[in-house]
Amino acid sequence: MTYSIAPLRRPRWRTLALLALLLGPLLWPLHYIAQRYYSGQLAEQNRQTLDLYVANLLGTLRRYEVLPDLLGDMPALRASLHEPIDAGVQKSANQLLERIRQRTGADVIYLMRADGYCQATSNWNESDSFVGRDFSFRPYYQEAMQNKSGRFFGLGTTSGKRGYYFAAPVHDGGKVIGVVVVKVDLDGPEKLWGRTPEQLLVTDSFGVVILTSRNEWRFRASRPLNDQQREIIARNLPYPRGSLEPLEISDNQWLIQQRFLDEIGWTAQILAPRDLLERQVRSVLYIGGATLLALLLLLAVMTLRRRHYLERIALDARAKRDLELNVQERTQDLQTLNQRLQQEVHDREQAQRELMRAQDEVVQAGKLSALGTMSASISHELNQPLAAIRSYAENAAVLLDHGRVDDARSNLRLIGELTTRMANIISHLKAYARGARRAPESVALQAALEDALALLAARRRAMNVELIRDLPDAPLWVQAGETRLRQIINNLLTNALDALIEKGPPRRLWLIANQDEKGVTLIIRDNGPGFSAEALARAHEPFFTTKATTQGLGLGLAICDTLLRALGGHLHLSNHVEGGAEIRLFLLHGKPGVASVPQEEVRG
Ligand code: ADP
Repeated sequence: MTYSIAPLRRPRWRTLALLALLLGPLLWPLHYIAQRYYSGQLAEQNRQTLDLYVANLLGTLRRYEVLPDLLGDMPALRASLHEPIDAGVQKSANQLLERIRQRTGADVIYLMRADGYCQATSNWNESDSFVGRDFSFRPYYQEAMQNKSGRFFGLGTTSGKRGYYFAAPVHDGGKVIGVVVVKVDLDGPEKLWGRTPEQLLVTDSFGVVILTSRNEWRFRASRPLNDQQREIIARNLPYPRGSLEPLEISDNQWLIQQRFLDEIGWTAQILAPRDLLERQVRSVLYIGGATLLALLLLLAVMTLRRRHYLERIALDARAKRDLELNVQERTQDLQTLNQRLQQEVHDREQAQRELMRAQDEVVQAGKLSALGTMSASISHELNQPLAAIRSYAENAAVLLDHGRVDDARSNLRLIGELTTRMANIISHLKAYARGARRAPESVALQAALEDALALLAARRRAMNVELIRDLPDAPLWVQAGETRLRQIINNLLTNALDALIEKGPPRRLWLIANQDEKGVTLIIRDNGPGFSAEALARAHEPFFTTKATTQGLGLGLAICDTLLRALGGHLHLSNHVEGGAEIRLFLLHGKPGVASVPQEEVRG
C-alpha cells in the first residue's frame, strides 16, 4: 500500500527573521541599562578609592603641617641660630633634628638662617648634608621670612627627590631670625597605588602631574602653561629640567573622576579605562543576545515540533482511513471469493455425486456385462454337474435294481455334493447381481485366483492355453472382498484369453505373485499381441474397447481400476519386453486368517 504524503512545509524562516528583527532592538535598551548600571557602579567604586587615596595623602601631609611651628620654639634650635659658631650648640641642634626626623618619618628637617643658608639639618652627618647651603631661592623660605607658613612642592636640589615642604618662621622678640623646614617624602603615597587598571593622577596648581601610577605621565603638563606660570617655575625649579611635555588624556579612552584639594591647590584624579566598562557591557550584551537567540531557537523548535506533530496526526488519520478502505475492499473481495468458493464446493459436490452415480452405473453396467459372461460360464458349469447328477441318478436306479444299496447310497451322496456346489454358484451370482458393498476384509489371494481360474477353466482348456504359475505356497493375505477380488481377476483373465484368441499356439498365461513390505503384487501376463499404444493410454477409460461391440463393452479395466482403488490398491498396465500384455495388480497386506473355503466356492 502506498500513501501519498504531503510534503512538509518549510520552516517559516522568514517569520523567525522578522521576529529576530523585532526582538533585536531589545538589545539597545539592554545596552543602555547595562552601561548605566556598570558606569554607576564603577563611578561609585572609583569615588571610594579616590576618597581613600585623598584622605591618605592629606593625612600624610597634615601629620607634618604643624611640625615646623613646633620646632621653631625649641631652645636648641634657637641657640643654634644665636650661637652659629659654637660647634657644641650646632651639634646638639643637628642631633635634635636628626632624632626628630627619625621619630616623625619626615624626609629631611633643617633650620635656615635669616640669610637663607642652612644652619642645622637632620642629614648633617651624611655626604649630601645641607649645612651651609643656600636655599633662599625657595618660595617656602620667602614665605616664612614674611612670617607666613610656607608650602611648596618640588624636587630636592641635592637629592633630586620629590617632596612637599612645610616651612615656619623662628621668632625672636617679634623678629624672624630663621626658618624651620620639613620635607615630606611623596614616594610613599604614590607607591600605595597598586597595579590596577585604574590610574591615579595628582596635578599641582599648574596642572603638572606630580604623583601618578604611570611613570611616563610624571611631570607632564595636563593643561597649557602661560608665561607667568613658566616664569615662576623657572624661578622655583619644582620639576626636573626638560619636563612639562603636554599630556593628552582623552575622555573617550578614560572615565575620569577628580577631586580638588583646597588646602594645597592640587587636583587628584582617578582614571578608569573605558574598556573595562565596555567589556562588562559587552558581556551583558552577549549573554542577552545568546538568551534571545536561545529563546528564538526554542520557539522555532517548538513551532516545528508542533507542526510535525500535527502533520503526523494528519498522516496517521489518512493512513488509518486508507487502511479501513483497504480492509473494506479486502473484506468485499473475500466475501466474493467466499461466495465463489461456496459455489465451487457446491458444484464439486454436485459433480462428485454425479460421478459417484456414474461410477455406480458403470460398475453396475460392468457387472451386468460380466454377468452375461459369468452366466454363460455358470450355465456351462451347471451343465456339467447336472449331467453328472443325471448319470448318478440313473446309475443309482440300476444299482437298486441289482440290490446294491450301498453303491446306490454313495451315488446319492455324490448327487448331494454336486447340488451343494451348484447352490454355491447360484448364491455367488445373487451376491454379484446385488452389488453389495462390503468393507475390505482379509482374503487369501491364491484361493481367489484359483476360483477365478476355475470359472474359466473350460474356455482355457478349449483354447489350449498353457498356465504357468509362480505363486508362493503360503497364502498371501490381501485387503479385499472375496467376490470383488474374484471379479477383478476374472475380468483380467478373460481379457488375457480374449487377447490369446488372436494368436496362434503356443498360448501361454503367466500368474506370478510376490510381496514386499508395502503390499502384494499379482502379475498376469500373456503372450498375446499386447496393448496397442492407444489402448495403453486409454484402457482405463470406461467404454474404451478395441473389441467388436458384441464382444466387449470397454468396462472391464475401468471396473477393475475402480474396485482396486476402493480397496487401497491400484492397477498398472504395460507390455512385456518379450511381447504380450503384463498387468500388475497391487493390493495392501491383509491380516493373516484361516484359509477357509469361501461361500461362493465354485471349484470345478
Ligand atoms: P473390453 O474387454 O470390453 O474391450 P476392457 O476394459 O476389459 O474392455 O479392455 C479394454 C481394452 O484393453 C481392450 O479392448 C483391449 O484392446 C485391451 N486389452 C485388455 N486386456 C488386454 C490383453 N491382455 N492384451 C491385449 N489387449 C488387452
